[in-house]
Amino acid sequence: MSFSVNIDAGLMNSGGTNSKTGSYQLVIAGGGPAALSAAIYAARYGITHVVLESWKPGGQAALTAEIENYPGFSSIAGSDLTNAMKKQAVEAGAVFVMETVESTTEINGKIKIKTDSAEYTTDYLIIATGAAPATLGVPGESKYYGRGVSFCATCDAPFFRNKKAIVVGGGDSAVKEALHLTHVVSELGLVHRRDKLRAEPLLANKLINNEKVTPYWNSQLAEVVGDDQGVTGVILNTPDGKKHIDTDGVFLYVGTVPATEPFAGLVDLDAKKAVATQNIVGTSNPRVFAAGDVTNNGFRQVVTAVSEGARASAAVFELLEMQE
Ligand SMILES: Cc1cc2nc3c(=O)[nH]c(=O)nc-3n(C[C@H](O)[C@H](O)[C@H](O)COP(=O)(O)OP(=O)(O)OC[C@H]3O[C@@H](n4cnc5c(N)ncnc54)[C@H](O)[C@@H]3O)c2cc1C
Repeated sequence: MSFSVNIDAGLMNSGGTNSKTGSYQLVIAGGGPAALSAAIYAARYGITHVVLESWKPGGQAALTAEIENYPGFSSIAGSDLTNAMKKQAVEAGAVFVMETVESTTEINGKIKIKTDSAEYTTDYLIIATGAAPATLGVPGESKYYGRGVSFCATCDAPFFRNKKAIVVGGGDSAVKEALHLTHVVSELGLVHRRDKLRAEPLLANKLINNEKVTPYWNSQLAEVVGDDQGVTGVILNTPDGKKHIDTDGVFLYVGTVPATEPFAGLVDLDAKKAVATQNIVGTSNPRVFAAGDVTNNGFRQVVTAVSEGARASAAVFELLEMQE
């Protein structure tokens, strides 16, 4: 079995342009809710800008099956929500370029940005590069990535129709995506290192009461095992010792890692490599702001990401106004 992340092709192509190398008042790095919100406000403020977004437009939110806690929508597919945000940004005049920021430096009061294919100069930068799934580093995890190991149930659930799967994790993301999988798989194991879930009680109870679900409490993934075709099982460390469980798929939701590598020398990071913020969207560098999951602001949600993106563009607008 082989599968890959399914990105909404429509979103991928909407509003993205070829390189816009040049000098701007503002560069927004990222393409998730925080960047999209920053882009809407930057365009409406008339700030000269470009949004540099990597291969995953819409960010983590676009890879989420259903979002039920974003005000205004009791339930909406994550990709529908981010598609609508991007459409709104493009209609407001936001300029998107599909490039990955590789490094940043500050020279003579300007920020230089190098992407995988171009260079930019800007007065201000908003870092909104979000976070990527954390890995456990256990044997078999990387070997079987894409052949049974996945970080995205929304993308890969169809490959597991009427098969067995295991979800590792106990937070909101793990529980939401596990619920999504219960509609597809025949059996679902839930491996959590504690004796109760951290997720919203409403969702946690719904999952635990699902007849397809078998929880493995106080247990940790020790190894992913498989053959030429892909994953065939996992080995868990349980309170009763090592346990082998047959499974076709392993979905990992064990936290995230902030995407801060290109900005390491430009702004202060905290011990977990998140951008250390001041007054919510400020950073140690007065020319740089940060928004969303890339920051150490906590409570990593779409509603907070869009709020911070808006605040970051507003802060840049105020500084530009003061210069006039
Ligand atoms: C499984 C799951 C379920 C979730 N469910 C919910 C939910 O129900 N409700 C809710 O509110 N939140 C939910 N979240 C959280 C929510 O998705 C995030 O809080 C939100 O997407 C954060 O937005 P962001 O813009 O800060 O970062 P991200 O969404 O991580 O977006 C970052 C973007 O930056 C891009 N990028 C990264 N590095 C670079 C680079 N070097 N150059 C250019 N671009 C780069 C990435 O490709 C990505 O497009 C869920 C998350 C997960 C994983």
